Amino acid sequence: MSNWLPRILIGTILATLLGAATQAAQETDPVEVHRAAARAAAGEEHLALLETVCRVPRPIQTGAANASRPPRAVPPPEDWYAEPAQVFDNLYFVGTQDHGAWAVTTSDGIIIIDALYDYAVEAAVVDGLRKLGLDPEDITQVVISHGHGDHHGGAKYLQEQFGAQIVMGAPDWDLVERSTRDPIPSRDMVATDEMEIRLGETTVTLYLTPGHTAGTVSTMIEVRDRGRSHLTASWGGTSLFATTSQESIQAYIDSAVRYQQLIETRGADVLIANHTSFDRTPDKLAALADRQPSDPHPYVIGTDAVRSYVKVAEECARAELARRMAE
Ligand SMILES: [Zn+2]
Repeated sequence: MSNWLPRILIGTILATLLGAATQAAQETDPVEVHRAAARAAAGEEHLALLETVCRVPRPIQTGAANASRPPRAVPPPEDWYAEPAQVFDNLYFVGTQDHGAWAVTTSDGIIIIDALYDYAVEAAVVDGLRKLGLDPEDITQVVISHGHGDHHGGAKYLQEQFGAQIVMGAPDWDLVERSTRDPIPSRDMVATDEMEIRLGETTVTLYLTPGHTAGTVSTMIEVRDRGRSHLTASWGGTSLFATTSQESIQAYIDSAVRYQQLIETRGADVLIANHTSFDRTPDKLAALADRQPSDPHPYVIGTDAVRSYVKVAEECARAELARRMAE
């Protein structure tokens, strides 16, 4: 009995010390430090991106390796079809439930950003344009954010049907040409860094942002909302795979740092994405449909929030790199 008090005291002191040590370890463990920074940057706006890029990659990935796999099954339209919608004066959503595809309209033609899976392109992009009162014959270029089937699968169709020029980063042309699952367009335009596609009064700028794939292309598009100018940013590739090399993760980080600087210097204030969860397209299209004349535009989130999105990607990649180094 006489030892009780000292034992409790020692126990308390030990527990306190251990707790402090655990907390200190978390504060200095680079994996946790970067995950915490990613969470802070994500706030409420970018939770889907945080969840996707900050999770530890699973060993077997879909989409990462396109080669030597059978053609993919076509799901029923109710599982993927989404209504097209006008988002800005000169920008339209023509994607699916899960994937963003965008049509930039100009006085000289239409630029499409991403071509979706091959099974979706006709209903979503081509019929989508017609539903919106636009003519798919006007498509001049199709920019592919990266060479995975959910973004380039419809490219060959658009190339063959409308003579559209397909634009992709050089390493992703190589990737796409090795595909056994998706139609392969013929190589026509290789995206270069800071390439400007100028059509009519509108410029779409392409930035090479390797990481998710070696040829990932991020874009910035001049758009107008009721005549007011804005600039979109779209981060071309998001998740990391177990097969992504440390070198590629470092490239991803470098790309993200640079793209944040570009967002800042160019004042990009609109976020659009090639996956609808990342830019919260379902919520935003619903908000747009109910928008009153005095309401702000739901896709205009401001330069800080756009930069924070890419900061989430950067910090999650830093956490993953630190986790690999500690293995
Ligand atoms: Zn991908």
